Amino acid sequence: MEVTIRGIGVSPGIAIGPTLTFGVQSFDIPKYEVKDVDAELARFERAVIAVRGELERLYERTAEAIGEEHADIFKAHLMFLEDVTLREEVERRVVDEHLNAEFLVGEWIARYTKIMASVPDMRFRERTQDLVDVGNRILGRLLNANVDGLDHMDQPSVVVAHDLSPSDAAKLDMTNTLGLATDLSGPTSHTAILARAFEIPAVVGLKFVGSHALPGDTIVVDGTNGVVVIRPNEKTLSRYTEERAREERSRKALLAAELRPSVTKDGHKVPTQANIELPLELSHSLKSKAQGIGLYRTEYLFLNRTTLPTEEEQYEAYSEAAKAMTPAPVTLRTLDLGGDKFVSHLHLAQEINPQLGWRAIRFCLERPDIFKAQLRAMFRASVHGHVQIMFPLISGLDEFLRVKDIVREVAADLEKRGVPFKKKIPIGTMIEVPSAVEVADLLAKECDFFSIGTNDLIQYSLAVDRVNEKIAHMYEPGHPAVLRMIRRTIKAAGTAKIPCAVCGEMAGDPVFTELLIGLGITSLSMSAVAIPAVRAEIASVRYHADGFRRGDSRDAA
Ligand code: PEP
Ligand code: MG
Repeated sequence: MEVTIRGIGVSPGIAIGPTLTFGVQSFDIPKYEVKDVDAELARFERAVIAVRGELERLYERTAEAIGEEHADIFKAHLMFLEDVTLREEVERRVVDEHLNAEFLVGEWIARYTKIMASVPDMRFRERTQDLVDVGNRILGRLLNANVDGLDHMDQPSVVVAHDLSPSDAAKLDMTNTLGLATDLSGPTSHTAILARAFEIPAVVGLKFVGSHALPGDTIVVDGTNGVVVIRPNEKTLSRYTEERAREERSRKALLAAELRPSVTKDGHKVPTQANIELPLELSHSLKSKAQGIGLYRTEYLFLNRTTLPTEEEQYEAYSEAAKAMTPAPVTLRTLDLGGDKFVSHLHLAQEINPQLGWRAIRFCLERPDIFKAQLRAMFRASVHGHVQIMFPLISGLDEFLRVKDIVREVAADLEKRGVPFKKKIPIGTMIEVPSAVEVADLLAKECDFFSIGTNDLIQYSLAVDRVNEKIAHMYEPGHPAVLRMIRRTIKAAGTAKIPCAVCGEMAGDPVFTELLIGLGITSLSMSAVAIPAVRAEIASVRYHADGFRRGDSRDAA
């Protein structure tokens, strides 16, 4: 029977396709007595062999596509597959207790997941997590369900999950992911941001989709209206099929208009730039005629791997962006891990309030080894284009001055070693913590630019967790408190004569374009896909109100 569930539409468009469930929570694992023990052992062995093949393919494919260092995780999983703990236990119990293999694998996973939650030793936890991941793959094979096929899918599918971390989302086989539907999460979670970046219709905060949609079920994801329909009847299906064709036509029309310059009716320039997470997105930015990269979320280079990226790898990635966009600027943001983005081998995850915890610049200041390597890579990449560097989660002047000291140290070290880099790299800060707004006048004197991160600024000023679907209705970009903070930040930047961009999701929502221009924003940075609509909006408004001199209305505000 058709089931309709409402959630939060976070990436527009309509997707229709078979369900691919991710994660084991939505599977019913049967328990039954096996009569033919040998046949059951052979079935288990076939599942293990299939998983081995799957992991080998994943290793090769990932190494080829994005490099061996990203593929290492699959090598580790192959090692765990050969680990005897799981296999020995399942085989022994099939023989002794005549129970079916999936039930035994399921029990094993449940037991290890429990152990994992109770053990404080992080190294042990990580090893257990890898074992559990491998166990899930075997379970998926035994159940004929794709438990973790995010990296490669056999056919175009809609991914349904209870939750999807940004690392999981970054692993998605983007060419085969038609849509996304998750029980948890909010509109500015990084998973939602990635879905928008790759133009994948997505609905989050659905609460029950993980338990209603079964593997293979036809499912409709209406990311525009925040609705999913599981097992749609014929009438619903044809309605959504028509709607999907209509949306596709209007998207094409909008793209055709994208060459429009990013200028208001009366000639005021508001450059529109792209936010990127993965190097893959550079081509989207070029296609959308982005006037630079306003935010490169470099932490994505650190996800889904078992070791840190080397300075050399980072240098390559940043240089690629600088070259691709030259002469337009590329704003590299230093590592912003924590919050909803974790790297297990850096031991960041276990905090009660991760969004308020040891994240972003706080982490970097305590790990100068990691921070300096990243800064060196950025400095070195500067010779290939117009590189700017900015820092996330700055909450006060002292913190920023400490950052600048380290920047100076890195520059001096490179200079001493004769490593080439540009001497005048603009250094800026994100304004995304209310305390930074309060001291924006002081920060402005120390930097070359501001970029307002509205995603976090809204979260912290309204005390609304950006990834919590239960309070997503309270996450209001248009809240007067937020608008006042933006206005104050822009004023402080104006007084110090430095530019002030917005790079949070608000910048990509045409509803706020006119308002942000009116407040005096100097550029907007967003998912590349949002650029055409925002440009159309910019082209439809005037910057100077009739009868006002430039700046009058803003100064009075
Ligand atoms: C923001 O907080 O607005 C921002 C752009 O950074 P992120 O979404 O990566 O936290
Ligand atoms: Mg942020």
